[in-house]
Amino acid sequence: MAAMKTLPLVVPGEVYDPSHVSPDWIRISYASAIALRFKSGRFTRDFEFGGINLLLNYSEGCKSDCAYCGLARTRPGLYEEKSFIRVDWPLVETDEFVRRLKTHEARLTRLCISMVTHGHSYKDTVDITNRIRAAVSTPLSILVAPPTLTRARIEHFKTIGVDMIGVGLDAVTEELFHKLRTDVPAGSLHWEKYWEVINDARDVFGPWKVNAHTLVGLGETDRDLVDLFSRLCERQIFPYLFSFNPEPDSRMGEHAKASLRRWRRIQLAKHLIEMDGLRNDDFGFDARGDLVEIKAPPDLVLRAVASGVPFMTNGCPGPKGEPGCTRPYGSYRPSEPFRDFPFLPTKEDAKGIDLDLALEGLIGLDRHKVGD
Ligand code: SF4
Repeated sequence: MAAMKTLPLVVPGEVYDPSHVSPDWIRISYASAIALRFKSGRFTRDFEFGGINLLLNYSEGCKSDCAYCGLARTRPGLYEEKSFIRVDWPLVETDEFVRRLKTHEARLTRLCISMVTHGHSYKDTVDITNRIRAAVSTPLSILVAPPTLTRARIEHFKTIGVDMIGVGLDAVTEELFHKLRTDVPAGSLHWEKYWEVINDARDVFGPWKVNAHTLVGLGETDRDLVDLFSRLCERQIFPYLFSFNPEPDSRMGEHAKASLRRWRRIQLAKHLIEMDGLRNDDFGFDARGDLVEIKAPPDLVLRAVASGVPFMTNGCPGPKGEPGCTRPYGSYRPSEPFRDFPFLPTKEDAKGIDLDLALEGLIGLDRHKVGD
């Protein structure tokens, strides 16, 4: 494995050394590998990229078995060849990674360690956090694995310099969570534990320092999503949006993703709840729970759409409050339209968004006169 020592990068298909595990080895997102010059490559559109995502790595993989996840235990394939949120995550040596963080620190906006459900996950996350904190001051989030945590461990994360905590709730109702994450062949995750960690993290880290990742398209209704966004924002917890994107061979590999129209409308509803204080009662739903009406003043809604902000990637902020974690291709393939934009949408993008949204039907522009 000498070659991998000089170029600490493994791509799918290469020979994999099972001793290359965390904390000394980590996987990083493909976009992060490009940003830190582990990989050469370009994004399909030019934009500043400074959000670095890393993932713990174990030969046994993640011990959870979520129906939709690329790393699920019972999904066919070797762990090292599996993809996570549909992109390849090259394996790199942690110390080399930290050296490169230092080299590129001026361009970095946010760092994030994704834990996996594994017995060493907490100890290794602390170790990697300490190595990073000793080298750079870029704000650091941890996307936690709730089964590995206690309140004391969450408190310890804060004392070692973690800035924000993310919880990958994904399924937005208890019933759906149970169906996709608990009642599955090797399922071990529990809705109650996820909320215990969200609640503890909110107490320990404070307002707008905790987020819950939510996935659109797992089988929930629009009403379910709006309900959860309202409850989280009431408690000053960020809801972050992801579009379900089927992982080939996962148990939901054939499940259709949300239509662009539904996705854009959910993006807009979430923005209005988070930024303009709208709540459940400000939205109308049909008998199936589909969003059919936004009862806010039309010019408020039109202003939000025109700003482009609702359609940008949701993620933890950078040092000045700017978008920090932008995860390009987290919710779509490079060949597909941007589901969320890691930059402010252009005028051309805005035209596509307007078509996708078909807003007139939602705010009753035929019933109201804008500006009244
Ligand atoms: S939004 Fe990005 S930085 Fe924040 S918890 Fe999620 S993956 Fe991590």
